[in-house]
Amino acid sequence: MKNIINYIFSYPKIPDFASKNFQLFHIQSDKTMVVLLIVQWLIATFITSILYNTHFYGFFGGALIVLPIIFLYPYLKGESYYRYFIAIAMMLFSVIFIQQYLGRIEMHFHVFIVMAILTLYKDIMPLIVAAITTILHHIVFNYLQFYEVSLFDMPVMVFNYGCGFDIVIFHAIFVVSELTVLGYIIRFQIEHSVSLNNTQNKVNQLNKELEHTSLHDNLTGLPNRLYLNQQIDSLKQEALKNDTKLAIIFLDLDHFKNINDTLGHHIGDELLQIVAKILIKCVSQNSFITRIGGDEFIIIESGFQNEDELLPIISSLLEDFRKEFLIKGHSLRLSASIGISLFPDDSSNISELMKYADIAMYKVKADGRNNFSFFTQSLNNKIHDEVNIINDMQRAFYEGEFVLYYQPKINAKTGQIIGAETLLRWKHCQHGYIGPNIFIPLAESTGFILNLGEFVIQESTKTIKQLNELGYHDLILSINVSTRQFQNGNLYQNLQEKISENNINPKQLGIEITESIMMKYVDKTLSTLQKIKKLGILIYIDDFGTGYSSLSYLKKFPIDVLKIDKNFIDDISENNTNDRLLLNTILAMGKSLGLKVIAEGVEHEYQFHYLRKKDCDMIQGYYFAKPMNKEDFIALLKSSK
Ligand code: C2E
Ligand code: CA
Ligand code: CA
Repeated sequence: MKNIINYIFSYPKIPDFASKNFQLFHIQSDKTMVVLLIVQWLIATFITSILYNTHFYGFFGGALIVLPIIFLYPYLKGESYYRYFIAIAMMLFSVIFIQQYLGRIEMHFHVFIVMAILTLYKDIMPLIVAAITTILHHIVFNYLQFYEVSLFDMPVMVFNYGCGFDIVIFHAIFVVSELTVLGYIIRFQIEHSVSLNNTQNKVNQLNKELEHTSLHDNLTGLPNRLYLNQQIDSLKQEALKNDTKLAIIFLDLDHFKNINDTLGHHIGDELLQIVAKILIKCVSQNSFITRIGGDEFIIIESGFQNEDELLPIISSLLEDFRKEFLIKGHSLRLSASIGISLFPDDSSNISELMKYADIAMYKVKADGRNNFSFFTQSLNNKIHDEVNIINDMQRAFYEGEFVLYYQPKINAKTGQIIGAETLLRWKHCQHGYIGPNIFIPLAESTGFILNLGEFVIQESTKTIKQLNELGYHDLILSINVSTRQFQNGNLYQNLQEKISENNINPKQLGIEITESIMMKYVDKTLSTLQKIKKLGILIYIDDFGTGYSSLSYLKKFPIDVLKIDKNFIDDISENNTNDRLLLNTILAMGKSLGLKVIAEGVEHEYQFHYLRKKDCDMIQGYYFAKPMNKEDFIALLKSSK
C-alpha cells in the first residue's frame, strides 16, 4: 500500500543524458506551438470579430502578442521561458475564444495542460484524450447548466453556474478525474521516455565497445588498419593546412617467424605486446601507431618540417629493439627493419605512400635488416624493373629463352679440359642477354628457381649423354644449386631421376654449393648432401673463402672440391712476388683436408702460373675460355683433342 502511495506521488526523474534529448525535442515542439498559436490567433480573433465586430482590437491586439513571439523564435527556441510565453499567449486566445463562445473558464485548464504535454512530449495521444474529454465534458455540462438541472434537488448555483450544487460537485470530480488521467498519461510518457533513453544509452555503449574492438588490435590494443584508413585522410588534411609533413613508417620485425615457430605463439604474442610498448615509448605524442598484421606495424608521424627530425625517433626505435628481452625464461634478441615514405614529398596519394614505405622496408630487408631506409624514386624504378622481370620469367621459361652456357675447367698440370661449369643465360626476346646475377636472386626470392634448377639438371644431364655419345666419357659438368633447392627437398630425387633417364655415370656430374647453403638448415642439408654424394656426384664448395665456413664444417660435410673465389685470384698481381697469404692458406687447407682445389676467375697468365706453382689442381677463367654455348663448347673440345 505504502509502495502504491509512494508510487502515485513520486515523480519520475529525468537523468542527465535524457535532458539533452528533451532539449532537442523542445526546439521541435516550439515550432509546432508557434504554428498552433498563429492558428488560434486567427480563429479566436475571427470569431470574436464576427460576433462583436471588433476586428481591430481582436486581430491587431492579438498581433501584439503573436508577432513578438514569432520574432523571438530564432533566438529563444528551446528555452523554457519561451515555452511559457507561448503557453500564456495561447491561453489568452483560448480565454477570448471560449469566454465569448462557450463562456466557461475550466476549459482553459485543459488547454493549458494539453499545451504543456504537447510542448514536452512527442506523443499525440494526450492531446486526443484531452480534446475528447474536454468536448464531452462541455457538451454534458453545458446541457446540464442550460436546463438548470439538479440531480438531488439541490439549490441551483447562482454564480456562473446555472445548475444544482450537486452538479457542481459532480463537475469538480469530473475535472479532477480528467486531470488525474492526463497526469498519468504524462507520467507514463516520461517513464517510457526515460527507459527508452536508458536502452538507447546501453545500445550506444555497446556500439561504442563494438567500434573500439573493430578498430583496434586485441593483442596489443593498438589501432588496426581499418582505423588507420579512417584517420589517415584527416592527418593528411591537417598536414596540408599546417604546411607540415607526414611520415609513413613501416616497421617489420626481423626473423619474428623463427621465434614464433621455435618458441611458440604465446612467446610471440608476448613479444608483440612488448614491441607495442616500445613503439608507444619511442615515438612522439602526436604519432599514430597501428598494428597491421603479424609482426608489421605502421607509424604515422606528423607535424614536422624536415625529415631529419625523424632520425632521433628512428634511431631510438632501432636501439630499443636491439636490447635483450626476457620472456618466460627465454632471452630473446630482436631487431627491426624500417621503411619510410614522406607526404607530400614522395606522393600525395596515401596508398602509394604505403606501397613506397613497404618498398623502402624491403630494401632494408634485402640489405641485411636491422636498419632503416627512406623511399627514393630510383628504388621504385628498381622494384618496378624487378617486378617486370619476375613476371616475365615465367613466359620466358615456357618459350625456351633460358639456355645453358658452359665454361671449361682445365687441369692445371696438363692444360687439358676436364669438364665445365654450367651457367644459366636468359636470352630475352626483346632485351637481349640478361645475366644470372640479375635474375637468379629474383628467381630465388619467388621460388621460381626450382623450375630453373630442374631445367639445369635436365639440360646438363642431356649434355653429358650427348658428350658420351661423342666419345667424351671423362668430362665432368658441375651445376650451381641454390638454397631453395635444398629446402624444397626434391633435389636428390631430381638428380637421381635425370641420371637414370639419360643413363649417365653420376661421377660425370657435380654440384656447386655455397658456404651459406651449408650454414642454413644444417641437418637437412647434410643428409641431402650425403645422399647425393652416395650417388657418386661430386660436391664443390663454391666462392670459397667469402663465407663463414669453419674447418669443422668442412670436415663434417662430404666435400670433394674447394672452389677458391675470384677475389683471392684477383690478389695475384703480375709484379708483386709477395706470397699471397690468404690464397696460400686456402690452398694448403684444401690439401691438408685431402680435397681437390679449383681456382675460378683466372684472367691472366701470371695468375695461372702462380696457381700451378702452388699445386692448384684445376683452373677456370677467361684466361682459357669464357662461358659459351653448347655448340661452341663441343667445337672447343674437338679442336683441343
Ligand atoms: P658463380 O657460380 O661464381 O659463377 C662464376 C661466375 O664468374 C660466372 O658468371 C662466370 O661467367 C664468371 N667468370 C668465370 N670466369 C671469369 C673470369 O675469368 N673473370 C670474370 N670477371 N668472371 C668470370 P655468371 O655466369 O654471370 O654467373 C653468375 C652467378 O650466377 C654464378 O656465380 C652463380 O652464382 C649464378 N648462377 C649461374 N648459373 C646458375 C644456375 O644454373 N643455377 C644457380 N642456382 N645459380 C647460377
Ligand atoms: Ca659456380
Ligand atoms: Ca663462384
